[in-house]
Amino acid sequence: MSDSKLIDPFGRNIDYLRISVTDRCDFRCTYCMDEDVEFLPRRDILSLEEIVQIATAFTQLGTRKIRITGGEPLVRKNILQALEQIAKLPGLDELTITTNGSQLEKMGQDLFNAGVSRINVSLDTLKRERFAELTRRDKLDQVLRGIETVSALPFQQIKLNAVILGGHNDDEVEDLVRYALAHNADISFIEEMPLGVISHHDRAKVYISSDTLRERLSEHWQLSASERSTGGPSRYYDIAGERQQIGFISPHSHNFCSTCNRVRLTAEGRLLLCLGNEHSMDLKSIMRDNPNDDVLLRQSIIESLALKPEKHHFNLEEEPQILRFMSATGG
Ligand code: SAM
Ligand code: SF4
Repeated sequence: MSDSKLIDPFGRNIDYLRISVTDRCDFRCTYCMDEDVEFLPRRDILSLEEIVQIATAFTQLGTRKIRITGGEPLVRKNILQALEQIAKLPGLDELTITTNGSQLEKMGQDLFNAGVSRINVSLDTLKRERFAELTRRDKLDQVLRGIETVSALPFQQIKLNAVILGGHNDDEVEDLVRYALAHNADISFIEEMPLGVISHHDRAKVYISSDTLRERLSEHWQLSASERSTGGPSRYYDIAGERQQIGFISPHSHNFCSTCNRVRLTAEGRLLLCLGNEHSMDLKSIMRDNPNDDVLLRQSIIESLALKPEKHHFNLEEEPQILRFMSATGG
């Protein structure tokens, strides 16, 4: 099946699914979750079989790209077997993964063998103490060894993701770009989103726009807007003389909803139609009430698209409207 059967009421063709395979994580990034966050009971989390069943239904409906995320997807037991099965689904062009990098040194080769084609690694700082403050774990060296491991393997793309908080790590954007270039990696800078209530910092106070970062980087590199589009919130720039690109993910300063091509499956099996809204369909209940009814599952996915809102409304000055954390949602 080549054409997507998933078209939303605003005419957007949905061919990209992000799956959060767990809400658990071995880090506690300050912008993502508090130290004493409560995780979902295991029975509420989709089993790996259920995840593969949903991924299968999506590919039958024309989904071409699946990104596995979390929480930390690589701490989920037996994740490699599930990845292998998803990578083989007919019609799927790309299986990608977003990770904090802590397991990449030992799992990089297995991920490649399983059929993962691209890896995004989160890296917000190159300073050990700052890393320990931002992630609440002293694991910078382990993550850097992981990035070295995967950058030496023939993945189609390695991309670093850095959430930039003014006054915390904005002084490192140039060093992060240099590090990415030295490791044949692209890099995206992300504006923090108001997902979940956190206690570490006031989000409005640390906000720094992508445009500010881009102007600063333009003092060191010649950047020109790239044609490349992923249908998502990233805008990419070519760097003169380099193969890699710099991306900016700007949910506040640049609205990206009109070209949105994606939906998200949460760790507890809710199909979330928009990152910035609560509209969702409970696919887990549908599957557990009607085991092995793949026709009903596909029908439910098609019907859920009617719930996809036109756009999100993030506002840093207000209390978070979205109480779920990025970790449960699948960032
Ligand atoms: N644990 C993996 C990781 O850190 O890459 C995957 C899940 S994490 C939720 C996915 C991405 O979301 C990471 O790049 C992380 O930096 C980003 N993220 C988490 N909370 C965020 C927030 N409030 N605003 C913007 N990005 C956020
Ligand atoms: Fe874990 Fe990723 Fe959230 Fe950091 S951003 S706490 S690594 S899920």
